[in-house]
Amino acid sequence: MQARPSPIRRPLVGALLPLALSLSLAGLALPPAQAGTATGPATSQARDAQAFESLSHQYIEALWRQEPEYAVAVGRYEFAPRASIPDAAQRERAQRLARHWLARFEGVDAARLSAAQRTDLGQLLNKLRADVFALTELREHEWNPSLYNVAGPLDAILNTDYAPLPQRLRALTQRLASVPAYYRAARASLGTPTLEHTELAIAQAPGVLAVLDEVLKVARSSSLPAAEQRLLRQRVDAARQAVDGYRAHLQQRLAELKASGQARSFRLGRSLYDTKFRHDIQSAHSAEQVYAKALAAREALLAQMEQLSDQLWTQTQGDTPKPADRIDKIGRVIAKLSERHVRREDFVKEIRAQIPELERWIMAHDLLTLDPAKPLVVRETPVYQRGVAGAGIEAPGPYRPQDRTYYNVTPLDGLSEADAESSLREYNHWILQILNIHEAIPGHYTQLVYANKSPSLVKALFGNGAMVEGWAVYGERMMLESGYGGNSPEMWLMYCKWNLRSVTNTILDYSVHVLGMQEREALDLLSRQAFQTEREAQEKWRRVQLTSVQLTSYFSGYSEIMELREARRQALGPAFRLKDFHEQFLSYGNAPVSAIAALMAQPATGKP
Ligand code: ZN
Ligand code: ZN
Repeated sequence: MQARPSPIRRPLVGALLPLALSLSLAGLALPPAQAGTATGPATSQARDAQAFESLSHQYIEALWRQEPEYAVAVGRYEFAPRASIPDAAQRERAQRLARHWLARFEGVDAARLSAAQRTDLGQLLNKLRADVFALTELREHEWNPSLYNVAGPLDAILNTDYAPLPQRLRALTQRLASVPAYYRAARASLGTPTLEHTELAIAQAPGVLAVLDEVLKVARSSSLPAAEQRLLRQRVDAARQAVDGYRAHLQQRLAELKASGQARSFRLGRSLYDTKFRHDIQSAHSAEQVYAKALAAREALLAQMEQLSDQLWTQTQGDTPKPADRIDKIGRVIAKLSERHVRREDFVKEIRAQIPELERWIMAHDLLTLDPAKPLVVRETPVYQRGVAGAGIEAPGPYRPQDRTYYNVTPLDGLSEADAESSLREYNHWILQILNIHEAIPGHYTQLVYANKSPSLVKALFGNGAMVEGWAVYGERMMLESGYGGNSPEMWLMYCKWNLRSVTNTILDYSVHVLGMQEREALDLLSRQAFQTEREAQEKWRRVQLTSVQLTSYFSGYSEIMELREARRQALGPAFRLKDFHEQFLSYGNAPVSAIAALMAQPATGKP
């Protein structure tokens, strides 16, 4: 999962709008949008639960009218023909919208709401404050040229079967008319960009052109009448020119910035980072506190890993004397163990076979109730989506509950022998199981099924990413604690390596964006000190330059869930049951862990 959608972000090719797309709300019935009720003080709107629901829906519908691309990304395809132009006037409207609704939701009397609605209200307020921050302080529209990309909605409209093909092609024809104006606005909006985001935007241009080509290809073999085909072709040609023009402009700008040394730094700096962290993570702790916790967690992991490596030394290294350096020692044991992996042609098959094993384990050990009516479908990632992650859950947006949820796994077919071997060693016998725990059961997939049981459109759209990632990371540890993997030192060592990745993500993100860590130091932290492959370390270095804060969500969510579990154990004493804790925790939907902690601490009055 990547960063959450911001009011100015356009979906990128291959980069999903994470929470929106990864959550579905089965059977959610939406009331029709209510127009003309925007007068009257907010307090009177929120007299009871009904009024709050109505207010939330009014806001969300207003948001879709302002951000049709976002609407399409979450499955509201009636907005497909409408394109917005990312100019100053649009940002002005976005800011007015956010401030207007912020004032209205600030006027809601939280005491009159149910617990579930109070957390919804918290999410709405946070989302609106984050929007104002993004537009007024973060101002990414001035420095990130890769925000401007028309491919996401085009790709979704072309490849989602929400309506007959000719109708979708007509929607595309309408959308495409504004592409030249879109890129003119992009140029006018940019101030001084970073080199890294400029390079990214240039590198993404061929992907945008490929989507445009695909539109034409699909149109040619469709039943669209000739005259309409001609119009579509003209608009695709004009769009191609606009994309090419934007790319050429950025290439020139990049050369100028490199020559002058005037580019903006990709590093966010402490002030912006702290605020963004507060909005995006919604932790009970500050960014600096979470960073300090990660440093301590890293030390504890390395100590445990050294102990396990001592245990495994002779069996993996024979008579070779142990190196004095613990990083060296651990690294050698991990390298040797990583040789155990599936054959490349069995990669998908093995993942498919493990899912029912994980389900059986959860049930046999009474860890969580699983819904047998919602089996997970493992499939090979559709070809047009490949190229990002190796495996991941793909769920329909909240407005497409009829669509299936898949566990997409990209087969290793396309890789060279060396790259396939490197991936297989990375996803070796043990790590592959941990990956399935994280992505599927009891990780992301199970959490999703639970979230759907307490449908909240607000939490599906503006839910907390640190809770979602934190749960998946927590699930890994919880499974091993229950004895999964036979408590073998091999499994624990590999788990520690995997967990060290989450911990290192937090250390890296804070160090780079706030403390000014340089590339060489970062690569050493990742590859030598966290036992990652060269390729993985390079990819992570690239990601930390292009994103901020999101990399901290895994560890911050995980560590807060661990703290919460301990607090519940203390509070309940002998009445504490792990299964109850899990089910209650998941019952609140995608709320921040800090909000869930507050709800759990209330006297038991049944579930919300
Ligand atoms: Zn091998
Ligand atoms: Zn995840």
